[in-house]
Amino acid sequence: MRERIYLDHAATTPVHPRVVEAMHPFLTEVYGNPSSVHGFGREARQALEGARDTIARFLDADPQTLVFTSGGTEADNMAIIGGAMAQRERGRHVITSSIEHHAVLHACEHLEQLGFEVTYLPADKTGMISTDELKKAVRPDTILVSIMYGNNEVGTIQPIEEMGSYLREREIVFHTDAVQAVGVLPISVSKLPVDMLSVSAHKINGPKGVGALFLGRKVPFTPYLHGGSQERKRRAGTENLASIIGFAEAARIAQEEMEERVAKYRQMRTTMLQCWQQEGISFEVNGHPEKHLPHILNVSFPGVHTETMLMNLDLEGVAAASGSACTSGSLELSHVLEAMCLDDPVAQSAIRFSFGITNTVEEAERAARKVAQIVHRLKR
Ligand SMILES: *Cc1c(COP(=O)(O)O)cnc(C)c1O
Repeated sequence: MRERIYLDHAATTPVHPRVVEAMHPFLTEVYGNPSSVHGFGREARQALEGARDTIARFLDADPQTLVFTSGGTEADNMAIIGGAMAQRERGRHVITSSIEHHAVLHACEHLEQLGFEVTYLPADKTGMISTDELKKAVRPDTILVSIMYGNNEVGTIQPIEEMGSYLREREIVFHTDAVQAVGVLPISVSKLPVDMLSVSAHKINGPKGVGALFLGRKVPFTPYLHGGSQERKRRAGTENLASIIGFAEAARIAQEEMEERVAKYRQMRTTMLQCWQQEGISFEVNGHPEKHLPHILNVSFPGVHTETMLMNLDLEGVAAASGSACTSGSLELSHVLEAMCLDDPVAQSAIRFSFGITNTVEEAERAARKVAQIVHRLKR
């Protein structure tokens, strides 16, 4: 069979075999409802709280501050809408950035329809959002700020600590979407000055459709789903136990393997860049030169249109992306690259390669050679 190389782990990752194994009993024998008081229920409850403890250790959080959700999107929506609605008598101003994931951007647009005012901070050419710009945007009626930890398209890591310290002094609720950062950066919510933080299982080799929101104890919050009193009345609905167990196992393995994973991703990145240098093709790396997530490499090959490159790579068995999975497929320029104000030839040729646990450095080398061949062929 023809070789296939998957370099789109920022879109989603394969489920780790040990995760599948950990989930299996919870799809077969352990089917009780964690809210039931009988033995079946108690068994499920115990497993649920065990998983919560594991993920709490992973994020250095108090287990009671974690709320399980249906994924990163729900965690983002919960944080933004639940955080804003709880404070609507205090103020109606929210700050975010123009390079957020759509789960944050569209939740903010929804707030605008509800009568809130939203400021969208710009990013510079490296995809960085400035703390000074944030400070300038803060007003007496600002109630909530949401800035992502690491960008999913270009990988730029934002100054979350600096922003959070400033906002904490002013008692402004601060949310960060850390979906891409967890698993590749050590994250401690007890040290980080954030009030809410979103994570998703399927970006760290867990199952799809499960995630969590860290929701600090005293953070104003209005629940979003109405029903039973699960998750300490913060998120109604019978818990997706098998997936939560899988999520915890994925987190446990990620924590164990983080260093070696990151070392490999750095090597993959260097290998690809060196290959293109050797091949003498012109390319430009997008995102911040140092402050970037190790598993994301966004690079432009001016003169070769993004869609053309992606199609040619796909024919060669290499899966990459134009940016977020949600915008690819359309010929529209990604909102992130647009916000970064890159020159047209750079923006229109950007490709995102994102690395994962099953990749090898040799795969990076072979994929990079294929990219170079495509560039040479198209330029001839
Ligand atoms: C994937 C992603 C999300 C959405 O998470 P889902 O679990 O797919 O809903 C949110 N934010 C970022 C930065 C992401 O990469």
